[in-house]
Amino acid sequence: MNLYQSQNLKIQNSLSGKKENFTSINEGHIGMYVCGPTVYSNVHLGNCRTFMSFDMIFRYFKHLGYKVRYVRNITDAGHLVDDAEEGEDKIAKKARLEKLEPMEVVQRYTVDFHNVLQKFNFLPPSIEPTATGHIIEQIEIIKDIIEKGFAYEKNGSVYFDVVKFNKTNEYGKLSGRKLEDMIANTRTLTAQDEKKNSQDFALWKKAEPQHIMRWPSPWGDGFPGWHLECTAMSTKYLGETFDIHGGGMDLKFPHHECEIAQAEASNGVSPVNFWMHANMLTLNGKKMAKSTGNSLLPEEIFSGNNTILSKAFSPSVVRFFMMQAHYTSILDLSNDALLASEKGFNRLLDALAFLPKLDTDTASSFDVKAWKQKCYDAMNDDFNSPILIAQLFDAVKYINLIKEQKETITAEDKTLVENTMYTFVFDVLGLQVKNESQNDEGKLSGVVELLIQLRKQARDNKDFATSDKIRDELMALGIQLKDGKDGTTFSVA
Ligand code: AMP
Ligand code: ZN
Repeated sequence: MNLYQSQNLKIQNSLSGKKENFTSINEGHIGMYVCGPTVYSNVHLGNCRTFMSFDMIFRYFKHLGYKVRYVRNITDAGHLVDDAEEGEDKIAKKARLEKLEPMEVVQRYTVDFHNVLQKFNFLPPSIEPTATGHIIEQIEIIKDIIEKGFAYEKNGSVYFDVVKFNKTNEYGKLSGRKLEDMIANTRTLTAQDEKKNSQDFALWKKAEPQHIMRWPSPWGDGFPGWHLECTAMSTKYLGETFDIHGGGMDLKFPHHECEIAQAEASNGVSPVNFWMHANMLTLNGKKMAKSTGNSLLPEEIFSGNNTILSKAFSPSVVRFFMMQAHYTSILDLSNDALLASEKGFNRLLDALAFLPKLDTDTASSFDVKAWKQKCYDAMNDDFNSPILIAQLFDAVKYINLIKEQKETITAEDKTLVENTMYTFVFDVLGLQVKNESQNDEGKLSGVVELLIQLRKQARDNKDFATSDKIRDELMALGIQLKDGKDGTTFSVA
């Protein structure tokens, strides 16, 4: 039996506004799509929060025994400045300003994105498709939507006819908006406007001569609308209806609303069973956003090189801080909050480190099995990581009291606490013990320190052949050992 069969997982579905029992379309399998970054600048910590929430969700699904196909795209075309319907592509703009090829911009920031995620110990998605790699699929969907009568061409651009769609379907059902209100609240169209209605959105835009990111299509040279790529890639890899679609709360409208419209118009079925939205990270009470300058880069936090925080914080401390809030709640970043998280995280790690050394007894003074189920109950309740962490701290308290001989634990329960703590802290929450030394430099110094210790042991045992061999072989690799009165240090040539 797989774990998921014995756990009653509930997920907050943005489509119904309710917490619903989760069952997947194909037993034992989950298809999950999450909107990825637009790679025109370094990801800030706000972006990371959304992706981290879904990393934790992905990890828990895997832990429960599901086989997950997790698709997280890279937006490398079609996303216009200010999320607008007209204007310059975000990537093309950056390329123009920096005198680079658009694909150089894409490469640079995709690499940055991966580096940051690796530091935060993210699991890679199953597929990471790009918008530019799926232009043909996007054109096919547009042709299909035109054929079904829900889109129209005008001067080389194609628009989705929202008013017509709303006659048979419900545009606005995800974001809880009414089309009439949306139309009433937007400016009336002028004769120059190509759209029939203000709420219509672009599926394909004609490329003006200066627009360098362009592809041939049945309607002339142009580029796809931003919302279309996610419909194309999610349908291609997960099918017409799949289990979960996620993204930040700010993508609910218009991005996800438009995705639903496109998919329903093209396939005639609702694309997603569970829509999940992660809430925003704020800084000084305002949404963290690159465009307003109210943002911090992960690297600025890890290095301490910023004007907001009093010190550097490791990736795991930042991750722990994020996990202390429920993914659907707004979370404000501050120096005090990070300091408190660091203290808490260290307390958790100290208890974990001491756990194997605890003396065991003939009986336990704490119901370990019930505690373990409470950990699962927290995660089963819409991935409630703050409640899970509170449960983990109940175990920390217990461990510390056993240490003081005020509580007792059996050998069997000790193993159960150990396994459960390891599972949730490392596998599900994705925290790491020594995050800082995960880079190559850290690993190298760890290995050399180990060799220095072995050399010292050899010398203490008067095994000079071995100690000299360690020194000489390291020297041959360009690592020089220096013996001083405080011990041995090393330098790399
Ligand atoms: P973008 O690169 O702008 O397309 O955004 C990538 C992801 O980051 C989207 O899912 C956004 O919803 C999310 N995002 C942007 N700003 C924040 C923030 N301040 N807090 C949490 N998520 C955010
Ligand atoms: Zn998307």
